[in-house]
Amino acid sequence: MTSWKELQVPQRILMGPGPANVPPQVLNAMTQCPIGHLDPAFLDVMNDVKAMLQAIFQTQNDRTLAVSGTGTAGMETCLGNVIEPGDEVIICVAGFFGDRMCAMAERMGAQVTRLDTEWGTAFEPEQVAAALKKVKRPKAVAIVHAETSTGVLQPLEDISRLAHEYGAFFLVDAVTSLGGVPVKVDAWGIDAIYSASQKCLGSPPGLAPMSVNDRVLKALFNRKRPVHSWYLDLSLVGQYWGTERIYHHTAPINAIYGLREALRLVLEEGLEARWARHLHHHKALVAGIEAMGLQMHAKAGYRLPMLNTVRVPNGIDEAAVRRRLLEDYSIEIAGGLGALRGKIWRIGLMGHSSNRRNVMLFLAAFEEILLDMGYRFDKGAGIEAAAAVYHAAR
Ligand SMILES: *Cc1c(COP(=O)(O)O)cnc(C)c1O
Repeated sequence: MTSWKELQVPQRILMGPGPANVPPQVLNAMTQCPIGHLDPAFLDVMNDVKAMLQAIFQTQNDRTLAVSGTGTAGMETCLGNVIEPGDEVIICVAGFFGDRMCAMAERMGAQVTRLDTEWGTAFEPEQVAAALKKVKRPKAVAIVHAETSTGVLQPLEDISRLAHEYGAFFLVDAVTSLGGVPVKVDAWGIDAIYSASQKCLGSPPGLAPMSVNDRVLKALFNRKRPVHSWYLDLSLVGQYWGTERIYHHTAPINAIYGLREALRLVLEEGLEARWARHLHHHKALVAGIEAMGLQMHAKAGYRLPMLNTVRVPNGIDEAAVRRRLLEDYSIEIAGGLGALRGKIWRIGLMGHSSNRRNVMLFLAAFEEILLDMGYRFDKGAGIEAAAAVYHAAR
């Protein structure tokens, strides 16, 4: 008989597009014993998760919960509970994840008006206004807040106002943004929103925090046809997370322990402080990257602090650089997706991974590898420029 060795995974510094490193307190929380999913003690944990998510999403929405599944399950839940077959929806595609929204909406039988903008830019409200004028009865406008494939932050408020002027719901993907930059669900008039546990929130993958308002719930209860997915139907899932506590599916108990601890740490740090931390380390990293003569892919002013896209210089094999970072330094970064494959690196500074040690270590490793591969720049300039940002903030 084969004998299997006990699982041993390497320690990594996670500086890709997620998952990010997890604080030890979160891992500790997850090692506690599973208890019953209807045990009053567990229901208390769920109530805590709901209340903390309301604080982090900045919403009063009663239907705020964590879907059992990754961010993509959150996407499928938000779209699926709003869209009925035949509905006209406008989907803004500025990268890989906007594209995924279109694929889902089409499977749900929506008539999709797809808006495109160049990967690496954000949508202007005028573009969405023009589409809203053309569509007869727009049911929803859907957009990605932080496009992880391009490193671009999409301003939301004007587009939200426009969607509502035309009577459409405003749906937002906050998978990468939540916990790293401001996300204000009620103040910005977001009707349905979803995120994921493993990006800036600081827990392992497996849960999709989300929130919908009463307008969405009202439409949900007045649907002509039930939601396409039984598992993701919020009218059913909501009876488990709500006061009814009706069994729907077994909650992933230990994952919810982890999320509770991660959310607690987010609130302990404070949202404002957390956003400032993400911005600070982003500035240091960008100073370093630019001092090395490299170019950021996203325009200044629209850059995500938690996901930095850097253009690969001519003659450098981007995958080989990533391989060496992983093998020699145990650092994970990512390459480009879709149209940006081979053209950019994606360097994440998400949640627990967003810190000075990671920025300085990464730049040192990156400099060493690029120099060895023949890319010429002012040696040490990257590290010095990042250090200057830190010293100036002392
Ligand atoms: C990661 C990501 C998703 C998908 O989340 P999974 O947890 O991988 O299912 C969706 N949207 C955005 C913007 C993301 O970055």
